[in-house]
Amino acid sequence: MTLVEELLIVACVPLALHLWVLFVPTVVVPVRRIHLGAAGLALPGVVFLTNPRDGFALRHELAHQDQMRRFSPLGVALFLGVHYGGSALLELLIHRRRPRFYALWARNPLEREANAIAAENAPLPRLIWLRGAPPPPRTPGDSGWSAGQDDPHGGPPGGY
Ligand SMILES: [Zn+2]
Repeated sequence: MTLVEELLIVACVPLALHLWVLFVPTVVVPVRRIHLGAAGLALPGVVFLTNPRDGFALRHELAHQDQMRRFSPLGVALFLGVHYGGSALLELLIHRRRPRFYALWARNPLEREANAIAAENAPLPRLIWLRGAPPPPRTPGDSGWSAGQDDPHGGPPGGY
């Protein structure tokens, strides 16, 4: 296999991920816990939630799925790398203080957008639920929703 062929194969991975998030419904996977105590985590095409009935966290992570559809998973990853890497360097070199993840998280435009969208409490899109978890109610105001609460998770409001 030539170098060009290998590079073409590597280039297909981000394209395949983008096609996946564009055309396959998001899979929701309930998990016991997530790193740093987050309520949710979004990877291309998959949302992990510690509480499947947490509508705010679900909508927050689904907003990240929409961001991956808009900018592609690679675009989001590059943006996150620039944001966290650049912000951490600024904290260290300019402000002479240790970067704190939650402070950087709170200033991240993608997270701010995801929090704003989650607070709208809009109807959910079609999702695939794993492990037989009951999906949260589709209408706002039903029990189990935490939208609008201040810091309902103790960590990042909607996870990563
Ligand atoms: Zn997030």
